[in-house]
Amino acid sequence: MMNNGVENSKILIVDDIALNRKLQHAYLDAVGYDVIVAKDGVEALEKIKNESPDLILLDVMMPKMNGFEVCRELKNNEETRFIPVILVTALNEIENKIKGIEAGADDFISKPFNKLELLARVKSLLRIKHLHDELELKIKELEATQRKLYQLAITDGLTDLYNYRYFNEQLYRELTRAKRHNLSVSVIMLDIDFFKNFNDTHGHPAGDKVLKTIAKLLYTNIRKIDIAARYGGEEFAIVLVETNKESASIVANKIKKIVEDYPFLHQETQPNGKLTISAGVATFPDDTDDPDALIKIADNRLYKAKEQGRNRVVLE
Ligand code: GH3
Ligand code: MG
Ligand code: MG
Repeated sequence: MMNNGVENSKILIVDDIALNRKLQHAYLDAVGYDVIVAKDGVEALEKIKNESPDLILLDVMMPKMNGFEVCRELKNNEETRFIPVILVTALNEIENKIKGIEAGADDFISKPFNKLELLARVKSLLRIKHLHDELELKIKELEATQRKLYQLAITDGLTDLYNYRYFNEQLYRELTRAKRHNLSVSVIMLDIDFFKNFNDTHGHPAGDKVLKTIAKLLYTNIRKIDIAARYGGEEFAIVLVETNKESASIVANKIKKIVEDYPFLHQETQPNGKLTISAGVATFPDDTDDPDALIKIADNRLYKAKEQGRNRVVLE
């Protein structure tokens, strides 16, 4: 891509007269440009589409479609508007130059050609074209980096679930939407039971594996539109979009059962003989219309679930 002129520069010559094409071709070819030709506007547009030239030498006077029309079409098309166009006019046709400017031409050259002038104009426009190409590439790279950074910023590194911040943002968003369209939204807060015991017995890395497994179980048992997050160390939260209390209860109990039934390694050392979670559910509009309160209520119910013996879901 780093290129200041000749290498890899493809130039399209568009002229209905064979002799003109031949002359321009000879000049450009001698310098080392990759030259292609078209005999009229229609053929030119076809070649431009298929071969993406870096510059176009465009004759004005042609049958079927004249140079202005071709130029206008190129400059109106998102894909081709940055390809420089040099309009080839008869000597001193001021009227044609004005029309050419209006059609979006980048430069002009008059027949009969002066070889050095032609090459100088071509070189100067190619320099701009290549700078533009480089810039476009850099912008694309930047955008890709930006997307990756954003993804990192909203993701929890251990579990690949969304993080706390993104969860809160989305909960606010979903509540706003739910209020506007009269929909329900539910939140489930989940916490692993006796997790300290598991960590103390089998070590932090084993505990991390459990966190990852539970994250996967959560993620695979909700819909794409729902939002599962790692809310804290061993706490998870889920936003169930357009979901009332009854449906949220079904989801929460299903997850509780799936975790309970999952054959976690070493789980037999847990106080109740297996790895389990407790959960609290809160629903808009039944419980509150405030997002912070919704989380608080779900959290209080989670603690109720702990008090009532763990491995259970509390709904009110
Ligand atoms: P309860 O049933 O009441 O929730 O008991 P618990 O032991 O799970 O609760 P407690 O809050 O006492 O302990 C939470 C434990 O979670 C302590 C900590 O070691 C563990 N934990 C928190 N974050 C991580 C983590 O990122 N990785 C691992 N392996 N453990 C974590
Ligand atoms: Mg816990
Ligand atoms: Mg905890």
